[in-house]
Amino acid sequence: MSDLPHNGLYTQVHSCRRCRLHAERNIPVVGEGFLSSPIVFIGEAPGRKEDKTGRPFVGAAGQVLNKMLEHIGLERNEVYITNVVKCRPPGNRQPSTDEVEACTPFLDRQLETIKPLILAPMGNSATGYTMKRFGLKERSIGQIHGRKFAVKAPWGSTIIFPLYHPATMLYNQSMERVLLADFESLKELLTEKTRRLVS
Ligand code: SF4
Repeated sequence: MSDLPHNGLYTQVHSCRRCRLHAERNIPVVGEGFLSSPIVFIGEAPGRKEDKTGRPFVGAAGQVLNKMLEHIGLERNEVYITNVVKCRPPGNRQPSTDEVEACTPFLDRQLETIKPLILAPMGNSATGYTMKRFGLKERSIGQIHGRKFAVKAPWGSTIIFPLYHPATMLYNQSMERVLLADFESLKELLTEKTRRLVS
């Protein structure tokens, strides 16, 4: 499994009881993908299907994410996908501040292992957390989606590139156009950043 090299993190998340979300979870969702990926996609929390499978973004929103990745010529195994919290909040409610505080040391360790060039938080909650984590002001996703924010991370310079949550398109089909355009901008950014690395 792709999460295993995370310095014991997979095992630690699976036995974690740091917050109340452990009580109703089935399988914690650590994350999956390429551990040297230049980009990490961050959602809010696992949903019903993710909780049953232990894999991120495998439900309807995951289908949208797959479609967007395919649109820009990327496969899931070329990127890394995870969430702010690793256990499903009951009824898919938003994780509380103390649950986020308890869980995000795991996310920090994942990011410090992967050392991504780009962080792509998806939706208001993941974007708010990521902006705050790197000392930026929290703003709504409607204001900052598809924009670049350069930050200094413990592993070096990185760009935060907020995206609407893929589930947005499930409720409002007209959002497809916005998501497609933002993913196209993301691809341009990724090409530019990876080109700079090899030149
Ligand atoms: Fe632990 Fe995170 Fe699950 Fe809470 S959500 S029990 S902190 S792994």
